[in-house]
Amino acid sequence: MKNDTPILIAGGGIGGLATAKGLSSKGFRCIVLEKSPVFGEIGAGIQLGPNAFHAFDYLGVGDAARSMAVYIDSLRLMDALSADEIVRIPLEAEFRARFGNPYAVVHRGELFSVFLEACKASPLVELRTSAEVADYEQDGKRVTAILANGERVAGAALIGADGLWSNVRKRVAGEAKPRVSGHTTYRSVIPTEQMPEDLRWNAATLWAGPKCHIVHYPLSGWKAFNLVVTYHNDAPEPVAGKPVAADEVRRGFEHVHERARQIIDFGTNWKLWVLCDRDPISNWCDGRVTLLGDAAHPMMQYFAQGACMAMEDAVCLSAQLEAADGDIERAFRAYQDMRVLRTARVQLQSRWIGDHIYHPAGPHAALRNQIMQAKSAEQWFETLHWIYGGSGLAGGAAAIL
Ligand SMILES: Cc1cc2nc3c(=O)[nH]c(=O)nc-3n(C[C@H](O)[C@H](O)[C@H](O)COP(=O)(O)OP(=O)(O)OC[C@H]3O[C@@H](n4cnc5c(N)ncnc54)[C@H](O)[C@@H]3O)c2cc1C
Repeated sequence: MKNDTPILIAGGGIGGLATAKGLSSKGFRCIVLEKSPVFGEIGAGIQLGPNAFHAFDYLGVGDAARSMAVYIDSLRLMDALSADEIVRIPLEAEFRARFGNPYAVVHRGELFSVFLEACKASPLVELRTSAEVADYEQDGKRVTAILANGERVAGAALIGADGLWSNVRKRVAGEAKPRVSGHTTYRSVIPTEQMPEDLRWNAATLWAGPKCHIVHYPLSGWKAFNLVVTYHNDAPEPVAGKPVAADEVRRGFEHVHERARQIIDFGTNWKLWVLCDRDPISNWCDGRVTLLGDAAHPMMQYFAQGACMAMEDAVCLSAQLEAADGDIERAFRAYQDMRVLRTARVQLQSRWIGDHIYHPAGPHAALRNQIMQAKSAEQWFETLHWIYGGSGLAGGAAAIL
């Protein structure tokens, strides 16, 4: 063990637990302080680019994560007005060879349990629930996390992995509320037999229509399908996980092709989110305190990279803490310097994708179709290289480190 005084991690989401796993693998003791009474994730799907698998390997959970993934063979973009395919990016042997790892989809709960079990198995990780970090104090040698119930927890450092509404970020960056995007997302997970047979594609499929889009892909060894539909309806207030009736979901999709629209009819137990993000910032650090995952760089989900970025952060932060030989402030600054521009690019590109690829109409949409259709698979791989990394890199992690 490298530290007597533990490193504190506020938030036990994917980012917080990946960090605890990364730090414990390097010999650092840590305490995860999670606000909720139990550790858990919502029951929906998540897409993972090859960079997520680079991170899994570095964090020592590669085999477990691979065992629960569904390996889709393409990313399909459909025109939601005509029901024609716009483009299909192949994810098979050539893609895997190029990026050194696959593209896959997983159930969030299953992915989360990989990290949770790994943390539970480590004697260096202490997991605490009902422990909301409200604030912190520091004196140059230690940080004290002040919990909402008044309890004080002392640590050598504090990592704010407490998500979009991060209390730690409030102190570090002094910012107000996140930006409400006005985009409303509805999610449902259905048994595979409930999905129309002619749409049970082994692909992450996205139907792009004016101010809306529909996503579906298989999950959990093909036992289920993940449905995510998004409508740009200028919703003014943030909402997370509110149950809604199917009629409300249908309302934003009356203008799209019947083939795309029918997907909504098969969804059940829909839940609603009004999506938020923030502009990138250049400082995530305050002495022995830093930010990670959505607390540092919350983004729209359109590039399917928020959790991937949180896991990359965990890799980079663990490596920098190991390299800094006890100089935590130096490690945190080095981590920030390595992560800010990459994550800023993903944040900004995620917004851009919504406006210019997923939601345009008329000539803008026709131009999208023309430009995207003109690209070869090789040109798509070239476009994606900066984010997914390459196969010749040490452990695949060089895109991150
Ligand atoms: C519709 C949708 C689809 C998405 N699809 C993808 C995808 O396909 N691929 C992808 O990579 N990403 C995707 N994302 C993004 C991804 O879900 C997030 O980026 C990721 O979950 C962020 O993880 P995190 O651990 O940083 O934050 P969170 O998951 O928000 O975890 C934060 C944790 O901190 C806890 N907490 C909050 N405040 C406090 C506090 N003060 N003290 C202690 N604990 C606290 C919370 O209870 C929570 O457990 C999607 C997001 C959405 C909304």
